[in-house]
Parts: sequence; C-alpha cells; structure tokens
Amino acid sequence: MSITEPAIRREGTDSGVRITDVEAIYLRLPDFDEARTDSSRDALVIRVSTDAGVTGYGEVDSSPLVVKAIVDSPASHTIARGLRELLVGRDPLDVRRLWHDMYEATLYVGRSGVVIHAMAGIDIALWDLAGKLLRQPVHTLLGGAHRTEIRAYASNMFQFTPEANAERARAAVEAGFTAVKFGWEPFGRDPATDVALISSIREAVGDEVDVAIDAGLAWDAKTAIQRIKLLEQFRPLWIEEPLHPDDLRGYRRVAEAVDLPIAAGEEECTREGFRRLMDEGRIDVVQIDVTRTGLTQAMLIAGDAHERGLPVANHTFTTDLNAAASLHFLAAIPNALICEYCVEPSELSRHLVSPGIRMVDGKAQIPQEAGLGVEPDPEVMDRFRWPI
Ligand SMILES: [Mg+2]
Repeated sequence: MSITEPAIRREGTDSGVRITDVEAIYLRLPDFDEARTDSSRDALVIRVSTDAGVTGYGEVDSSPLVVKAIVDSPASHTIARGLRELLVGRDPLDVRRLWHDMYEATLYVGRSGVVIHAMAGIDIALWDLAGKLLRQPVHTLLGGAHRTEIRAYASNMFQFTPEANAERARAAVEAGFTAVKFGWEPFGRDPATDVALISSIREAVGDEVDVAIDAGLAWDAKTAIQRIKLLEQFRPLWIEEPLHPDDLRGYRRVAEAVDLPIAAGEEECTREGFRRLMDEGRIDVVQIDVTRTGLTQAMLIAGDAHERGLPVANHTFTTDLNAAASLHFLAAIPNALICEYCVEPSELSRHLVSPGIRMVDGKAQIPQEAGLGVEPDPEVMDRFRWPI
C-alpha cells in the first residue's frame, strides 16, 4: 500500500495496517549552555513505522534519553511494559485505544511525568499516521477545524541587557508578529531589573503590540503580587508561571490579588494536573504542550478549560514539528487564544521539518496537508543525531 492509497478498513474494526517499529531518536546541537532554561536546542523525535510503508512522526519535550528508555524497555511484567514492545503488531488507527493501553501497561512507573511525555510523542505520531493513511489533516480527524489561521506571538528567552531585548522585540515586529513574549532568566531577580527589561521591550514595540511576560517560576506568592502590580504599567498580555507549579494556594492568592491574567500549564501533562491548576490555582490562560500531553489528552483538557470559560494557548519551545502538532490542536478547539511560536535561533528547532510553519501577517497558517502536514528532513535528522 502506498500513501496515495488510503487504508480502508478491511474487516470489522481492523484497518489491516500494523505498527512495525517505534523509535525514539535523539537530536542535539553540538554545543550549548545547559544552564539556560531553553528547550530549543535538542529534540526527541518519535518515529512510528508500519507495514503499509507509511511513517508517522511525533516529538517529546522532556528529558530525551529517559523518554527513549521508556520507549525501548522490555516488559518487566503486565503493568511495567516498554511502549515499543506494547505497540508493535497493533493497528495504528486505534489511536485512543492505544493511549488507554499504554496508560494501563505502565501503571507501575507511569500515570504522570515522563511516561506520559513518552506516550504523548507516540500519540502525536499515531495521529500523523492516521492522517496520512486516511488522507486527512489531523485537525479534521480531531473533529473539525474552527479556523485556518491563528495569531502567533514570537516567543523569546530574555536576553541579558535591555538593549538586546529591544533588538529581539523589534526583529519580531519587523517579521510581522503583533505579539511577543520574553521569558526566564535573568527576569524576576529584583524590581529594578524587571522594570528595565520590560520597559525596553514596551518602548521598542510601541503600544499596538502585545507583550507577554514569562516569569519562569521566579517568585513566591507575596513577591509575585508586588511585582505584578509594579509591572501593570507596561500592560502585559499575561504573566506566565509566576510561581512554582506545586504552589496551587499561591497561584490562587495571586489570581485573586491582581488584575492581569495569569497563564500556566507547561509543567502539567495530565488532565487532573490541569484541573487542579484551573480549579485550585484559578489560572486565567491554560497553556498545553501537546508534546507532554499528547493530542488525545490535549483535546480533553481543552474541553475542561472550555467548560470553565477559559482560553487555551499552546506551549511550544522545541521544533516546528511540535508547532505543527500544536496548530492542528489549536485549529480543532473553540477556545484557542493565540499560538506560541519559538523564535530562538536554533538551527535544529527551525529546520527540522519541511515545509516550515507559514506565517502571514503575524498569523500562523494551519497546515492543510494529510497528517501533520510537515515531515522531518532526513539530512537535518542525520546532521544532529546524537550518537548513543
Ligand atoms: Mg513558559
């Protein structure tokens, strides 16, 4: 069977296609500073192969080699299995069924954290495969698109001087973005530094461009309330992750004390984790990284957010493979707010897949081709493949 011949369910519920391999492939730039909280410099790609000659790709933003071990491990017993051996021989179109089976087969080690991350990458690859086999874009299989494009913001690591941040902000506006975000170190250390960093960005972009701030877990609740009130004068779009992700009481205190929207969610990977953030933490913007939740769970989490009247944004700071999966997700939910698009100058992050994400007037275009609509470039995969 070739990709031009869609799989047709042959008998009963069986598509006739079988998974033949699940690989976790580690890609990494040759040299970088691990002290920066920047996940754009390495990538864990999941490749699911089938006997139909069609291949699906996913990505995981986690600890790459731990994910690889979870995929490659042999079974220890019925609820401590490796994901590869569980999936080989199965029907790839049983995407939600396979999520359930992976969850049950890893109960001893999983249920949260890195096992869910590994499942997420496989889940994305299975949706990509299903789309290719059925000749449909993933957003159609997720239930139908609400949009063909979505406003994107240029997402940056904070630079270490106000001038360097202003330069990044101006570059984003020149590239057509109508919103920018800056995050993590050196932000959050003291009020004077924070005011200097944000005022330089606001001055560089003017009043018409939205500026979101990612505090990168910098504060306790009391400091967060004081600092957010100080930064209100710069009219940020939102304040992201002001607190440690476990400090739900703190999140609630902050949400009740300030007017600016509070965004969070990238540290969560389960539906229950997101429910706690929404119901106990009272966050205003729900940020979902599909390479940690999978598309299957992301749809349910977005539904939980919708039920609470909350908007959803993606969290994406790895490659355009993650960005493409996120765009199908954002297309398929009614409560999508905006798309995070990482603009860090990582050759791996920007050039892993082709075609890249297309931006028109600061809006990311939802891919319309079968599957995710992007494909990893074999030459880039070879160039950055980490020898393990
Ligand atoms: Mg963040």
